[in-house]
Amino acid sequence: MPRITLPDGSVKEFASPVTAAEVAASIGAGLAKAAVGAKVDGELRDLSAVLDRDCALAIVTPKKREGGADADALFLIRHSTAHVMAEAIQNLFPHVKLVYGPPLETGFYYDISFEGGKAISTDDFPALEAEMARIVAENRPFTRYELPAAKGMEKLRAEGSKFKVDNAERAQEAGSTTLSWYATGTPGTNWEDLCRGPHVPSTGRIGAFKLTSLASSYWKGDERLDRLTRVYGTAFATKEELAAHLTQLDEAKKRDHRVLGRQLRLFHIDEMVGQGLILWTPNGSIVRQELQNFISDELRKQGYTQVFTPHIGKLDLYRTSGHFPYYRESQYPPIIEHDQLSMLAKEGCTCGELANRLEKGEIDGYLLKPMNCPHHIRIFASAPHSYRDMPVRLSEFGTVYRWEQSGEIGGMTRVRGFTQDDAHLFCREDQVADELLGCLSLVKLIFGTLGMNEYRVRVGLRDPDSAKYVGDPRNWDKAEEACRTAARTLGVPFSEEPGEAAFYGPKIDFVVKDVIGRSWQLGTVQVDYNLPERFDLSYIGADNQQHRPVMIHRAPFGSMERFVGCLIEHFAGAFPLWLAPEQVRVLPISEKSAAYARELHAALRAAGLRASLDESNDRIQGKIKDASDMKVPYCAVVGPRDAEGRKVSVRAFGIEANLGEVGFDAFVDGLAREYRSRGAETVRSVFGK
Ligand SMILES: [Zn+2]
Ligand SMILES: [Zn+2]
Repeated sequence: MPRITLPDGSVKEFASPVTAAEVAASIGAGLAKAAVGAKVDGELRDLSAVLDRDCALAIVTPKKREGGADADALFLIRHSTAHVMAEAIQNLFPHVKLVYGPPLETGFYYDISFEGGKAISTDDFPALEAEMARIVAENRPFTRYELPAAKGMEKLRAEGSKFKVDNAERAQEAGSTTLSWYATGTPGTNWEDLCRGPHVPSTGRIGAFKLTSLASSYWKGDERLDRLTRVYGTAFATKEELAAHLTQLDEAKKRDHRVLGRQLRLFHIDEMVGQGLILWTPNGSIVRQELQNFISDELRKQGYTQVFTPHIGKLDLYRTSGHFPYYRESQYPPIIEHDQLSMLAKEGCTCGELANRLEKGEIDGYLLKPMNCPHHIRIFASAPHSYRDMPVRLSEFGTVYRWEQSGEIGGMTRVRGFTQDDAHLFCREDQVADELLGCLSLVKLIFGTLGMNEYRVRVGLRDPDSAKYVGDPRNWDKAEEACRTAARTLGVPFSEEPGEAAFYGPKIDFVVKDVIGRSWQLGTVQVDYNLPERFDLSYIGADNQQHRPVMIHRAPFGSMERFVGCLIEHFAGAFPLWLAPEQVRVLPISEKSAAYARELHAALRAAGLRASLDESNDRIQGKIKDASDMKVPYCAVVGPRDAEGRKVSVRAFGIEANLGEVGFDAFVDGLAREYRSRGAETVRSVFGK
């Protein structure tokens, strides 16, 4: 009789088969009421699933114990809402045929054929949503029934939908000997759909939903086949969660770095240059340079030294490092010298042979560098090192090239050339822990300065059951403990993830949450026992013997492209003064104050500020709007009265009214101080804001 193991490790025994719902009820009335599904031996099932043998069971409820929405519950709710939507569409558009409707990470869709009748438009959404609300209010149970495959196929053929027949055929190819249906209510009476499930127990458990958009699609994604309409929607356990999601979508649209990048002229992607290759325009270059200056200043304080290395390296270098040919799918193809190329052409060498001989190392060539590490390693190896001059910390904003499949290329987050905030630390075994701490304190400082206070770290550790790892297990123990300790010093949530270490060392990853709650995976700090071995690196120890150094790779912000893309969305394009491409715009009210405006503009520039002057004949309201459209942090409005009293009327971006008046010198000085202190001091404090 079934022995059921619960998530807390306790075991419940039943005299006869039970449903997951009955087990939930035996645990408590609250759990039974909240339950929407069950996980049986890790597989998501209906709450009505019968448990007739020993298994592990977790009851799925909409809220996770540690807070937040449960992903399995959302899956069930969204998939169930897709059924309700399909029924509503068939009620309002009886001619349609259903094709396929899966849940998604943020909602669900259903592909539907509207052929031979009225098409759907978003104008139909309110009527559809009303019909869906009616079905939800009826709180009909999702009722599963099964038929043997042959009998099920007969039924589907009689119903005459080639789409459903095809779905069923594919289910059988995948090994199903039965076909299952879910009736929304009573089989034979209510609407039903061929489906594997699982679902929430009844339509009333769908908390809140919304239809979001329409798109066109093709059957099986093949444009030679039937043209379909994809109806998108989303659903949540509560109205509050749905409202928060819709607000977030709205905010995300306003903050899209691809849109803002164009509007604020921050970067450009040009078909003639190539997909995924970012052109940093003057405005974006300022943001990047300011960030690089900030990072470089801090690195200098931490004892890093700067290096520069070329964008290509010989294939042999990457054979030694192991980057070639193993990762060739994610690299641009090799570059071959002229002489070699003409010789190969004379021999009649085919492309296949060429690739083969390159891989075997019979032909040498160059590679656009996919990583900076091998170059830095050769710098370290170019001079002898004593234990006294360790660690050696080499940093470079190093540009690397990787072959991303096209597709989503179009912004700064998926690119084919990018510049890492890279550095390699060559250290003694006993220095690893301190170096990790140093890396993380830098991350903390930079995130803090940027106001990105919500981030978490993931510590990737060995899989205890695997033997693939290189290096001494005792050193691994120490390095893993050092990663944990360093992560703890940040004072932010961190998770330990066994099995997520690379084969050559443990690592720390950073995931930052932007102001609207989305997560961005940034960079990493990685301990490496492998490359020092492959390149036979050494230093002379206190014992006068040669020792192997440990390497730490660190690019905590990932790449300048991704980081700036993330910052554009984080700030919604309204950068703080120190990062803003244009920091202050001087706006004379009329010709009469032009001379004074020019004097102020010159003084701001002399103080090192990126100031501009709007001498157009526009009315002042128009000038203020132009500056606001470009999200310039400060405007200095000057009229004849300001000129007389040597004052400036200050406006700050995002604040409707004037901040107030301030003296000429106090304004210039205040802005310069805000810039140099990267926002720690602000000119606004003069106005008490
Ligand atoms: Zn279903
Ligand atoms: Zn590296």
